[in-house]
Amino acid sequence: KRRIGVMTSGGDAPGMNGAVRAVVRMTLHYGCEAFAIYEGYDGLVKGGDMIKQMGWEDVRGFLSEGGTLIGTARCMEFMERAGRLQAAKNMIVKGIDALVICGGDGSLTGADKFRAEWPGLLKELVENGDLTEEKVEPFKYLNIVGLVGSIDNDLSMTDATIGCYSSLARICEAVDSVDTTATSHQRAFVIEVMGRHCGWLALMAGVSTGADFIFIPEIPPPDNWEEDMCKIIKKHRDLGKRKTIVIVAEGAHDRNLKKITPQHVKTLLSEKAKLDTRITTLGHVQRGGTPCAYDRMLATLQGVEAVKAVLEATPETPSPVICMIENKIVRRPLLEAVAQTKEVATAIHAKDFDRAMLLRDAE
Ligand code: ADP
Repeated sequence: KRRIGVMTSGGDAPGMNGAVRAVVRMTLHYGCEAFAIYEGYDGLVKGGDMIKQMGWEDVRGFLSEGGTLIGTARCMEFMERAGRLQAAKNMIVKGIDALVICGGDGSLTGADKFRAEWPGLLKELVENGDLTEEKVEPFKYLNIVGLVGSIDNDLSMTDATIGCYSSLARICEAVDSVDTTATSHQRAFVIEVMGRHCGWLALMAGVSTGADFIFIPEIPPPDNWEEDMCKIIKKHRDLGKRKTIVIVAEGAHDRNLKKITPQHVKTLLSEKAKLDTRITTLGHVQRGGTPCAYDRMLATLQGVEAVKAVLEATPETPSPVICMIENKIVRRPLLEAVAQTKEVATAIHAKDFDRAMLLRDAE
């Protein structure tokens, strides 16, 4: 009888609760025991009542709640081996032999590192006299399954991460609201959106709201972008448009890696294009609120698949991450997905734009 732990880690994202609900209920459905680890890796390192056994009713109402009800955190201790050693001990004390982690690439990297170290950690616990050989014997293999919870949609090998469509919908609603006042006063608005190193939210928000201009990290604009932008926006105005919307991804930069700030864009629109311009920073509104239908569905289907992956795992299977590719729920090797994502980000940072674009195309 497997004892499966589920946790949310890193930045919160709408839909994470749906994933917890699906993992808990699917685990129970298969006659196994389910545990929630509270506050991400913090709960694993602290143990005790931060790890709670879950019943069917404990996740009632989770599906439609935003954020994560079991909490999340950024945990420095887990970055160190000593923290992971403590985490391993807590898991064995609670009898947990598999972990489903819903988080971003940082959380999933940490999870795979934990699994790679697992045999060494057990050995150390026995050597230190923390646990007996008989106690650790049934826990020789640790199963890790990743679910990608992130509003940024920044992981390779999956078309969508849990939370990205809720965030996109929220951004679109906000831009629609700004639109009405912009049109009334014939104003320009510069809107900054989240996404860290990934421009997906900004790009899709631009497409979905018909923005005049967008800036994303993956495609830094040509050196003459300042004139270019003003020219295009002026053309739109000459065609009769009463408002201007420019969307800037938080990670946007030019070809010299100089950050493109909303303030700089505003100055250009005010001084060069002579438009009455305001900045709207959506901030944490973008991550909050109820998950949209797609994220509930994605979280549920992926949570179900995660439990199946735990039950089918062999010691040889690499840790999987559950993905959505062309509308199908599939498993992919977790480390490869994270490595490819890092490569895309690194390539961008290394000014290797063409390669970065090629990688993105190949996804
Ligand atoms: P996200 O999962 O959203 O990318 P972070 O990068 O902040 O968020 O990671 C969340 C947590 O995962 C960290 O606070 C840390 O506890 C753990 N973590 C991240 N990277 C590693 C790593 N390389 N090794 C061990 N733990 C890690």
